[in-house]
Amino acid sequence: MTEPTPPVIEIRDLHKSFGTLEVLKGVSLSAPSGHAISLIGSSGSGKSTLLRCCNLLEDSQSGEILFNGEPIRWRGEGMARRPADAKQVTRVRTNLSMVFQSFNLWSHMTILENVMEAPVTVLGRPRDEVEASARRYLDQVGIGDKADAWPAQLSGGQQQRAAIARALCMEPKALLFDEPTSALDPELEQEVVRVIKDLAAEGRTMIVVTHDMRMAADVADHVIFLHQGKIEEEGTPEALFGNPTSERLKGFLSHSV
Ligand code: ADP
Ligand code: MG
Repeated sequence: MTEPTPPVIEIRDLHKSFGTLEVLKGVSLSAPSGHAISLIGSSGSGKSTLLRCCNLLEDSQSGEILFNGEPIRWRGEGMARRPADAKQVTRVRTNLSMVFQSFNLWSHMTILENVMEAPVTVLGRPRDEVEASARRYLDQVGIGDKADAWPAQLSGGQQQRAAIARALCMEPKALLFDEPTSALDPELEQEVVRVIKDLAAEGRTMIVVTHDMRMAADVADHVIFLHQGKIEEEGTPEALFGNPTSERLKGFLSHSV
């Protein structure tokens, strides 16, 4: 008998506070391999914090985080709780690539150098092999011809696609998107949405935080609605968008386009 594959990311009853402000109040989620989750909710509901807790960019005070079935080991308790094993943290971070709203490309490097940097310096992979895969990912996101350009020479949509290629080049187990289209003009948004949809269609594991309800519905097979640090409602896109049950979700959707 083969063991069932564990979820790439699993979170159980996670609590996270900034000082006295409790931002995540017992959140659980599971991102199975090959599936995409959309995370929606009002500004300030804790979406970015939850995403950052997944790849250990933020500490949390209680609850479990598992990566590929491997529980994160902690030392200390409550506000003093920290990951106990630096190698485990590196393994989690390098396997969960994040794409931010603001692209965060290095302005002094060409697009190709941006994409190659982390696989070469962090993972220590051979340059020629990384260059070949970097060019392949740039092709995949439709900017193969921009490899030698500087970030400032690209449109916002092209820069964000470069940031996605950079995330892919780490060969991560999952991609974490935090509002990847929010900084873009509407006409540039769609080219990025297209790329993210294609990644979902090819079976990439991902969590997508977005204000774009259409993208949330199109990319994911599971949607989570976060409200004030708690999961208020979750389910298939059809259920959440077609037949929302909680008043808060109904209210939220009525204000979203
Ligand atoms: P969202 O991404 O859903 O808009 P965030 O996760 O960014 O929400 O923020 C959730 C809450 O946590 C907000 O009240 C925000 O002000 C607070 N918060 C986020 N980051 C910090 C921080 N570094 N220090 C203090 N409070 C923070
Ligand atoms: Mg946010």
